[in-house]
Amino acid sequence: MTMHVMPTYARLPVCFERGEGAWLWDTQGKRYLDAIAGIAVCGLGHAHPAVTAAIVAQAGKLLHTSNLYRIDHQETLADELARASGMDNVFFCNSGAEANEAAIKLARKYGHGLNIDEPAIIVMEGSFHGRTLATLSATGNRKIQEGFEPLVGGFFRVPYDNVEAIEAIADPNVVAILLEPVQGEGGVRIPTSGYLAKLRELCDRRRWLLMLDEVQTGMGRTGSWFAFQREGIVPDVFTLAKALGNGVPIGACLARGVAAQILTAGKHGSTFGGNPLACAAGLAVMKALADGKLPERAAELGDAIADSLHKRLGDNPHVVEIRHRGLMIGVELDRACADLVKLALEQGLLINVTADNTIRLLPPLILSDEEAGLLVQQLADLVDAYTHIHSLETPERL
Ligand SMILES: *Cc1c(COP(=O)(O)O)cnc(C)c1O
Repeated sequence: MTMHVMPTYARLPVCFERGEGAWLWDTQGKRYLDAIAGIAVCGLGHAHPAVTAAIVAQAGKLLHTSNLYRIDHQETLADELARASGMDNVFFCNSGAEANEAAIKLARKYGHGLNIDEPAIIVMEGSFHGRTLATLSATGNRKIQEGFEPLVGGFFRVPYDNVEAIEAIADPNVVAILLEPVQGEGGVRIPTSGYLAKLRELCDRRRWLLMLDEVQTGMGRTGSWFAFQREGIVPDVFTLAKALGNGVPIGACLARGVAAQILTAGKHGSTFGGNPLACAAGLAVMKALADGKLPERAAELGDAIADSLHKRLGDNPHVVEIRHRGLMIGVELDRACADLVKLALEQGLLINVTADNTIRLLPPLILSDEEAGLLVQQLADLVDAYTHIHSLETPERL
């Protein structure tokens, strides 16, 4: 292992060489079932033929020209995203944090347009919005902020899934609410149904922007193209990144109505944002999601996996709750369980633990029924063994 990579990650001792669909192979040739998909990035699985073909074709033609010029793939991808979401326009960047930075800047400039000199944004406890200074300041997790003070100001924090806490804020500087429709890093937290509709109504009444961070929930993962669609509302602004390029870095900040008129020429930018390569990948991803009816598939498969997990783990007293929205699945245990990730890795299964005690599954949307069955069986055996309900029968090493 080299000492020349800055030690910003606690990495698992494995290096993957290739992938196909929901499977990865490490440099020793061992095979793994990937139930995390690069943290909700590879929604179409690994080496998806249509995405590969689009990238290869584009790389042979043109990678980058800059936003000094028109970019036809960027315009087409913006059209497609607007059509799928009901938004008016799109700013392209390269990551989730950057997409949220754009949303934060947009909200501030919206506030200045209302003659508010110090515009503020309401954000949530337990949220995650990224690692840049503004987005870590918006994030509701002290561990992510610690050591980087002074934080960026202009955020009010309230408990998640609590409308009254927001209604109680009377500060005239508030211009927007920023939240995840389902909290991912926060432990797969799903708010009460109707929560977003109440926030929509509150924002309309107070002339605030409703801004959703769909960086993790977007692109079909929760069972609809975007999580807000299931709640029957449309936000003013929402952000995307992770699964939009299936692994090619791309982020997007989408806006509607007055919010779509805020970031005008010279007010924001990104060198790589929306370049021909990234947008070719994004277009291939959108086409593959639509052709395969994968948002619908995520809804159906997520329900089936959650059902089987309930059947297998329902009487394990150490399982506190099994939560899911589409293929965003959380299994909360009554204890911290970070070491489960390594045990699963040894068994050839890639999972993640977040919020200390919640196993998070973010499998690719192309997962087959058979692969889903395998995932449930392996995970249930692991959880039972980990909580000492049964001993784990170690399958033969591959
Ligand atoms: C991953 C994530 C981000 C940050 O995305 P980066 O691409 O790592 O900057 C922001 N918000 C949510 C909800 C995320 O899951």
